[in-house]
Amino acid sequence: MNEWMELEKKYLMYNVARPPVVLIRGKGTRVWDDQGKEYLDFMAGWAVAALGHSSDVVVNALCEQARKLIHVSNQFYTIPQIQLAELLVQNTVFDKAFFANSGAEANEGAIKLARKYGKVKLNGAFEVITALHSFHGRTLAMVAATGKEIYQRPYLPLPAGFRNVEFNDLDVIKGATTADTCAVMLEAVQGEGGVNIAGKEYLQGVRQWCDEKGILMILDEVQTGIGRTGTFFAYQQYGIEPDILTMAKGLGGGVPIGGFLAKEKAAVFEAGDHGTTFGGNPLVCATAYATVKEVLSKDIPGHTRRMGEYLLQKFAEMKDKYSFIKGYRGLGLLAAMDFDQQIAKDVVNKCVDNGLLLNATSPITLRFMPPLIIEKSEIDEAAGILDNVLQEFQA
Ligand SMILES: *Cc1c(COP(=O)(O)O)cnc(C)c1O
Repeated sequence: MNEWMELEKKYLMYNVARPPVVLIRGKGTRVWDDQGKEYLDFMAGWAVAALGHSSDVVVNALCEQARKLIHVSNQFYTIPQIQLAELLVQNTVFDKAFFANSGAEANEGAIKLARKYGKVKLNGAFEVITALHSFHGRTLAMVAATGKEIYQRPYLPLPAGFRNVEFNDLDVIKGATTADTCAVMLEAVQGEGGVNIAGKEYLQGVRQWCDEKGILMILDEVQTGIGRTGTFFAYQQYGIEPDILTMAKGLGGGVPIGGFLAKEKAAVFEAGDHGTTFGGNPLVCATAYATVKEVLSKDIPGHTRRMGEYLLQKFAEMKDKYSFIKGYRGLGLLAAMDFDQQIAKDVVNKCVDNGLLLNATSPITLRFMPPLIIEKSEIDEAAGILDNVLQEFQA
């Protein structure tokens, strides 16, 4: 056994079953392990490496800012944070930004903002309606928000104030809304839940319902943001404007940064209401600024849309060939393939053996989320590896 695996077993807390791969280097759409083996990366570190691994844009911004100023407290003005906020506000429908360190923390902050809104504008309403099969992060409150029992069971009792209802069903949201409701929080595409794409009428209906009730609509775009679905943010394809949007994953091109954007009316924090030590520090904000600037100036969302369509075309060809492929779907470069048998884990392991990193969101579902800079030839390559692997499962 590889010595790093032995050492990890000895010193790290066990929290995930990993394949026997120790990654040490990455460039573009590829990563390499400590044996020198190359992998095409269709996970991108959970949809983080938007510009690919060690992109010059990210590396240069990181190094340049590291030499200037890495961290000071949020007690003082710092320029990269202001510039990043301006860039995000100018390219969205929002008015104000707040930066944190992760997706879970971004969502926590958004929920606190919604609760404050409930306190001052809605007679103390505090409850947030979320969807089953959602994913909002691993903190206690976000585990309560995430409608997935296996993440909740070991940690009961959970913080109160969340109601998990069926996804893509407006009536259950209406039914769950009470005088205590201050917000609805949803993903435009449930990534971790298996790439479940929200219907357009659904999100538009939720928007209308929230307006009618005077409650806030929060969109968790931690996974779908920064071009992943073929527009800068996914809400832009739905003809809606959320009141609050959360982001993280792709935002920093690999450095840990999260945050949320809010409409003026929802931006009700006052001095002392919320804060963070690391959130929005100069190092991560300068890197995120360079990442977002590159995504926007090179129209990477447009490229993502085209490559996403091409990927689905490849899936269509495979579905014609293999009867056990039940279906596939995707929005931009967030895609999934379903099987009619529980083979997803085995397919993933065989793909990894053959140099393609993939992930299974369930025993029957594969998820695909390569770096957004992926090219057709690389999609062909990945599809070739997957096709070879699937041949082994053909009865
Ligand atoms: C990954 C994810 C989160 C949690 O982000 P972390 O950075 O892991 O805390 C929240 N929401 C969605 C939609 C995600 O995909």
